[in-house]
Amino acid sequence: MALSSQDTIEVYDASTHSIIKTQKVFKSEDEWRKILTPLQFDVMRRQGTEAPFSGEYVHNHRKGIYKCAACGLDLFSSDDKFDSGTGWPSFTRPINKLNIAYVKDDSLGMMRIEVRCPRCGAHLGHVFDDGPPPTGKRYCINSAALKFVEQK
Ligand code: FE
Repeated sequence: MALSSQDTIEVYDASTHSIIKTQKVFKSEDEWRKILTPLQFDVMRRQGTEAPFSGEYVHNHRKGIYKCAACGLDLFSSDDKFDSGTGWPSFTRPINKLNIAYVKDDSLGMMRIEVRCPRCGAHLGHVFDDGPPPTGKRYCINSAALKFVEQK
């Protein structure tokens, strides 16, 4: 696929604390199937949802960065993680507003806001308006869509 200027996006990079330019990631369904586990593929490329309390990061309280499991983009900080009791990792905000994409989702007879990785388009979860301060938002994210990198 030919790259155009629209395929370059600006994102926050946690390792350098700066805004950087990066290329969007495009892969065919077959390519994603080879790279991702079956659960990751179902969640990230098929808008699936892991079973509550099944994910490895629900009760993770270590300090670090949660990256996109598909492309490695920095998505969430442990500083913004809270225990929602829902069974999914929950955050009050993304690590930067540049590092998240929103899509209206009216499946299941509900109007919800889906959140995706802005670089590779992976489905991450949904965002709701019943979160705690300071934002009042609850980003409800599948562990399967995340890769946690601990920071000492
Ligand atoms: Fe991604």
